[in-house]
Amino acid sequence: MPMQIIEALLNLNYTVALIALFTVFFTLEQLLNTQFRFTGRVNHLGNNLLFQVVLFGINIFWASVIVLAVDWLHEHKIGLLHQLELPFWAALISGLLLYDFSAYWFHRMAHRVPFVWRFHRVHHSDTSLDSSSNFRSHPLEILFWFGASDLVATAVFGLHPMALGLYALILIPAFVIEHANLRFPTWLDKTVGLVITTPNFHKIHHDRDQHYTDSNYADVFILWDRLFGTFKYKPPDQINFGLDEFDAPEKQTFWYLIRSPFMKIERKTSDKLIS
Ligand SMILES: [Zn+2]
Ligand SMILES: [Zn+2]
Repeated sequence: MPMQIIEALLNLNYTVALIALFTVFFTLEQLLNTQFRFTGRVNHLGNNLLFQVVLFGINIFWASVIVLAVDWLHEHKIGLLHQLELPFWAALISGLLLYDFSAYWFHRMAHRVPFVWRFHRVHHSDTSLDSSSNFRSHPLEILFWFGASDLVATAVFGLHPMALGLYALILIPAFVIEHANLRFPTWLDKTVGLVITTPNFHKIHHDRDQHYTDSNYADVFILWDRLFGTFKYKPPDQINFGLDEFDAPEKQTFWYLIRSPFMKIERKTSDKLIS
């Protein structure tokens, strides 16, 4: 891809892009034949949007810290790939793959380490998935997740700052589409889904049965799950979203969820992740 196109893409306003995409998908979910039935959609949207408002405030500060740190690591040629002097396009592609590779392992850790799960379970608590579910993540998890995963990947592998910008740009539509309450054909899973995480695959990750919750961790390249043995499949119409311990309506509110990492809540479906 020519440099000018990449620079133009990176100069896009990420917040505007996210709001525009979300508006399109939220409208489509209202108009089309959706995958799952929904009650109280306005209330659901309100709670999920509050997470985005908090995140937006944090991101203004946090994104600049990450960008400065990644630029510093790049200037000082820290990380393995600096030894190879790759052409620019190869640095971009390997950067996209390796940022996603790092996110895959951080996501697996979030399901394994009880302290981190306390924050990550907020994203899994949603009992009715739609494009707004993409917003439901605990702000403190974002600080940990996007910061640590991206910084570790940059420092270890020596990734290009533009690859991080491009990766962030891919993640915005990926997250909105993966959570959208629309019917996605299963032929997508059998073709594109050999390499890319499809909405049907990510939704399996939101199943309340822990056998499936602990699967399909990859944000963009499902390849990592296929390679490391965490890929699982069940038909989309058999998925049951949420977590048993968050089912009550009063546990679906922004205020409860934001406090929930600091509460002792046992995981009901398994004795593996009691925190
Ligand atoms: Zn997860
Ligand atoms: Zn999700």
